[in-house]
Amino acid sequence: MARLDLHRHLEGSHSPAALAAVAQAHRVMDPVFFDAAAKRYRTAAELSAVLTMAGPSDDAMVFYRCITKARAAYVTVDAIAELARLAFVEAAHDTDGFEMRVSLFSMTRTLLDNEGIDWRALPPVAFAERARAILLAVLGARDAAVVSESKPMLVRVGFSRTFESEAHYEAMASILPEHKAAICGLDVLGIVVGPDKEPMPAALRRILERLRPDIPDLTIHAGEFEDHSSVERTLELQPQGIGHGVRSVESDATLARLANDGVTLEVCPTSNHLLIPTVLRTLEHRRGVTPLRALQQAHVHCVLGSDDPTPMGTTFSTEWARAEANGVDMVRLEADIDRRWQQLVSRR
Ligand SMILES: [Zn+2]
Repeated sequence: MARLDLHRHLEGSHSPAALAAVAQAHRVMDPVFFDAAAKRYRTAAELSAVLTMAGPSDDAMVFYRCITKARAAYVTVDAIAELARLAFVEAAHDTDGFEMRVSLFSMTRTLLDNEGIDWRALPPVAFAERARAILLAVLGARDAAVVSESKPMLVRVGFSRTFESEAHYEAMASILPEHKAAICGLDVLGIVVGPDKEPMPAALRRILERLRPDIPDLTIHAGEFEDHSSVERTLELQPQGIGHGVRSVESDATLARLANDGVTLEVCPTSNHLLIPTVLRTLEHRRGVTPLRALQQAHVHCVLGSDDPTPMGTTFSTEWARAEANGVDMVRLEADIDRRWQQLVSRR
């Protein structure tokens, strides 16, 4: 039985214990980690209280603030490497293997911010080289964890739809083909405020299209903060997977298209419960079952993910138990996980 976590982000996988240890070892003086008045580092229990969501909220910024706080520990490439290694080891303890998503642009921008460098003033090529150093640190951490834990671990590189600078994204993208053997695919993600919460900027689409001959597997977050039409427009890019996509259950036509195209939806039950509570209630009321069950009933391939375990206060084991308790067809789920995993490892 393969319990493979196929939707998980590195930035949301730094446990309070890992952050507390790295903050102390790497002298992170940010007030999130260091209590200047008491002249001591905060404990894992104290960090847990500020890095984990207190409860469900339709305001995605509540979640994003937890991520931003954890990022304050990205003070050097070495600190990132150690945080990544601990995240891979802890994810291995919670699963039979997994795919980890790395928001390379956000991590690079954050490291530069924490170094006091204005990233926008940095030439795109120089920015891309800093991104490469972070990518190599993360890949090295993954390789070390594979050796120590003897479990399979894939790395996917995510592009944020916040898309702050076309030139910097372009430069970062241009280094990725050199590392294609170590990367399982590309992802589009990001919390965006504004009328369209799941935009696909045309310039970002062009970057993805240019990269795909080298890195073909593409997943896109959609149908989470926006409705089923967001999933429909995402399908124009022919992704192999869609992050969440639960609002597809609003439309029989979208469900039929997903089943027909063989696209895999990566469903993260706790994430939906915490980030889109009102929408989730509507979806469950409409179908009478959870989105994961409704998707299975519509013959859509589905896998399971923990998304961001630390801010969401969950584990992959919790997601698995939750799926079982909600009447998910576990035989089918495992078959879909195996199918998707084979797609990921056969391309490499
Ligand atoms: Zn996600």
